[in-house]
Order: sequence, then C-alpha cells, then structure tokens
Amino acid sequence: MTTPGDIELLMSIFRGTPVRDLVDHNLGDAKFRIPKFAARNTEFLTHPIFNTHDTETEMLRYLKKLESRDLSLCHSMIPLGSCTMKLNATAEMFPISWPEFAKLHPFAPADQTAGYIEMCKQLEDWLAEITGFAAISLQPNAGSQGEYAGLLAIREYHASRNEAHRNVCLIPTSAHGTNPASAVMAGLKVVAIATLKDGDIDLADLRAKADAHARDLAALMVTYPSTHGVFEPTIREICEIVHTHGGQVYMDGANMNAQCGLCRPGDYGADVCHLNLHKTFCIPHGGGGPGVGPIGVAKHLVPFLPAAAALNADVDLNKRVGPVAQAPYGSASILTISWMYIRMMGPDGLKRASEIAILNANYIAKRLHPHFPVLFKGKRGLVAHECIVDLRQWRSSGIEVEDVAKRLMDYGFHAPTVSWPVAGTMMIEPTESEAKHELDRFCDAMISIRAEIDDIANGETDRQNNLLKNAPHSARQIASEKWDRPYSREQAAFPAPWTREHKFWPSVARIDNVYGDRNLFCSCPPMD
Ligand SMILES: *Cc1c(COP(=O)(O)O)cnc(C)c1O
Repeated sequence: MTTPGDIELLMSIFRGTPVRDLVDHNLGDAKFRIPKFAARNTEFLTHPIFNTHDTETEMLRYLKKLESRDLSLCHSMIPLGSCTMKLNATAEMFPISWPEFAKLHPFAPADQTAGYIEMCKQLEDWLAEITGFAAISLQPNAGSQGEYAGLLAIREYHASRNEAHRNVCLIPTSAHGTNPASAVMAGLKVVAIATLKDGDIDLADLRAKADAHARDLAALMVTYPSTHGVFEPTIREICEIVHTHGGQVYMDGANMNAQCGLCRPGDYGADVCHLNLHKTFCIPHGGGGPGVGPIGVAKHLVPFLPAAAALNADVDLNKRVGPVAQAPYGSASILTISWMYIRMMGPDGLKRASEIAILNANYIAKRLHPHFPVLFKGKRGLVAHECIVDLRQWRSSGIEVEDVAKRLMDYGFHAPTVSWPVAGTMMIEPTESEAKHELDRFCDAMISIRAEIDDIANGETDRQNNLLKNAPHSARQIASEKWDRPYSREQAAFPAPWTREHKFWPSVARIDNVYGDRNLFCSCPPMD
C-alpha cells in the first residue's frame, strides 16, 4: 500500500531535502510491467462523460444527479417480494469504511488478520445457530452461488458413499429461476414438481416423482416459506419423503426473513441451505451486488463444504469440493454489515423482526384483499412475510400488472415484484423496516389505483388513453404547453396528498420494457 514515492516524501520531510539518498535501490519507481505489445496506443474513454466531470465539484453533482433519479428506500418502501429490501442501518454500514476492514488484502498473512478471522468465525457461529446447522461456509458471493456450492456438497456426499449415479434434482415449479440453473451447473438433471391450486407443493406428485427416481434421486430444492408467500405445513413431510428415497434436501433460504428466531431449517429436515445476507441480514443490494450467500450444512455434509482458496500451494487436497470463490471468505468486507446487524439485534431482536415482517405482510394482505384478491393463503387465512395479489381479472379491460407498477411511480412508490412467480400478479414484501404509516400509504396508493382501474373497466375512461396506460408522468409532460389527455395534470402527477408535500419525479415517461429488452440500442454519441 506504500509506494517508493511515499517513502521519499517522508524522507524529504525529515531531512528537509527532496534529494533521494536511500541506499536501497529497489525503492525506485515500480517497473513498467505491461508488455509493449499490449500497451494501448489508440485513444480511449473519449466519451464526454469521462472528461467533463473533471473537478470534484462536477463529479459530486454528476453522481448526485444519477442518485436523484433512483427511487430508493430513502423515498419509499421497496416492497419487492422475495428480495427483502429492508433498512440497511447506518450503524451497520459504518465498519466497511474503516481501514481495518476496508484495506486488508484477502490473502494477507493469517497473523495479520486475527481480528478479521475472529469476526468471520463469530458470524459463522451465529448463522449456524440461526439455521440449526453444524457448519457454515461464508465463501459464496450470492444466493445462487450458495445453491451451487450446496449442490456440489450433496453431489460429493453421494459420491463418497458410492452413489455417484444419483443425479436427479426435484424442483417445484414455483422455485426461483436460480434453482434449476444451479442444479444444471452442478451436473444434475432437473425434474419439475407440480404445485396445487392453493399454491402448496403437490405431495402426490412429489411422492410419485421421488418413487420414479428413487434409484438416482440426488436432491430436492425447496423454498420455505414458499415463493407463494405461505408457510407450507407439510414441510417436514416433504423433507421426509426425499430422505426415504435416498435424496438430500436443499433449502433455498432466501425467505429466511420469515424464520429467524422462529424456526430453523436444520430442525425440520433440510440438509443444506443458503442465506442471502444481502436480503435477510442487511447488506444493501440491487444493481448487481456485491452479495454474500453463505451455506449452512448438517454434520454429514461438513466434509463437503468448499475448500478455502489459497494463493500458495497449501490448498487442502483432501477436500472434495474446491473453492467456489477467489477469496477465502468471499466478500469479506461486507460481512461486517451482517455482523453488526446480528450483534445489535440479538436473539430477541431477530425473532421480533421476523414477527413484525410477517405481521406487516398480513396487514397489507388484509387491507388489500377487498380491492386486489390475495392469491395464496395458508389454511388459517394468513400469509408468511409476503403476499401475492392477483391482477389478472382486469386483463379483459386491457389493464396489465405492468400498468399498475408504472402508475405506482406517479404515487412515489417503487413497484413490488411483478409477474413472479405467477404471471399477472404482484408479490409484496414490506419487511419489518416499515412503520404502519408507510404500509397504509402504500395500501392507499393501491386502493386509489383500483378506483382508476374501475373507471377503465366500467368504460368511463378510454382503454388506451388513461392514467394507467400513460404512467408514469414526467415533469416535462406535466409542464408542457400541450396537454391533450382526457384527465387533468393534477390527477396525473399529484394523485395522492403526500405527492403535494414531496414529489418524486420519474425522470422518463413510459418505456416499452419488452421492446427495450429485445432491441439493443446505444444512446451514446454516434460512433463516428
Ligand atoms: C434472491 C433469491 C435467490 C438468488 O439469490 P441471489 O443472491 O440473487 O443469487 C434464490 N432464491 C430466491 C427465492 C430468491 O429470492
């Protein structure tokens, strides 16, 4: 971290002279190590964006401008189902800016990283306690990578028992897309399990498929509570069926925010599970990372956790599964965030968070149900920590779930997860971070949008030219001389009282998402 230049500066301060008088000639400038043939001699970074913000003031304003276009948790709840967009508290975030954590090299010698390793070990212990497992690997850099590491552990476990032929992975159709993707990457064959009308896994189908593949059953990947937002009461039975057919149970732990302190995957039958520290344990996410997806495993799978990455030759050759990440502790610096979260919450706090997360989701489900039917509920009429509302009945009036998502922007809200795991629905997860006031504000917005939908469905409003189809409305449109919409500017941009007090302006109007996804185009200055 220290260059010869720094040492020369230090010497010159003490000696009062800029003259170099170091004996060690190795302290000269670092050699230019890029081979000549590879050195670039053409122009680069010529786009104005790279050379207009060349003062700190300009850079500050540029970054702030970008930030202000982003509707974040600073503005409203982000009720993305399954994604657990909870508060990333400032106190939790502080340590990542401390040089003791931020400036350590992942491969610094062990005698210089004692504190870091202690923190990692403590976090491993806490996560083991929370999940009910024997050991944790902090290596995977995402939930999906945890899935991969967990399935490798299962695969090698079978191989160690002379059952390497076990290669079938059962996955319910409601699963997150990463599940089948990881299974294929781990060399397994995916067999889909049906779900019933009420959202639960079809036990008869599970039994039949487990029977049919009993000889080569490797694993079941299951999410609990399910991605349908319900605690499946048969979860123990599901695990048992898989075990009696010689398979292992992989638990997708993305929904751990509904379980912490209440129940543990290790107790009800899972053999391995990943956690999304960037969901349940407060690491900020969105925009692609970085994340941490540690896995916990039961005792019999401990020997098959990924080996530690090492720079030198002392990789543990006895390990059957190699490292799944470059660094021994994956994204180590951000582990401090989850450490802080768990340490500050304590066991009671974590339990309380799960309870409030579930309570908040049920509050929203109950308030919205008369206006937007809640698709899946448990036998007692309750949901888990998220709920799916069904918008498909308005398709006949031309209203799609996307229109409601876009209209929510006019109300100052980030849309929930749309069309997953069921097309034409919204999955709402408020998390424990939101106060009742904010839940009500969101429900008020949805209920108000329902009235707007009714106007369209009743034929009072045009099917194409209306508040929903034209949403969101930008400041430029609202301020334009030309306004020929069949509704007022006020209805468009200030549909709720709070928008008058503080308005978040979408920076662009409606974008055709599908067209945009299929037709790549560049908004840069032309190539010439
Ligand atoms: C987020 C999520 C994943 C994948 O986790 P990543 O960290 O995004 O790779 C898997 N399953 C479910 C249910 C999820 O919500």
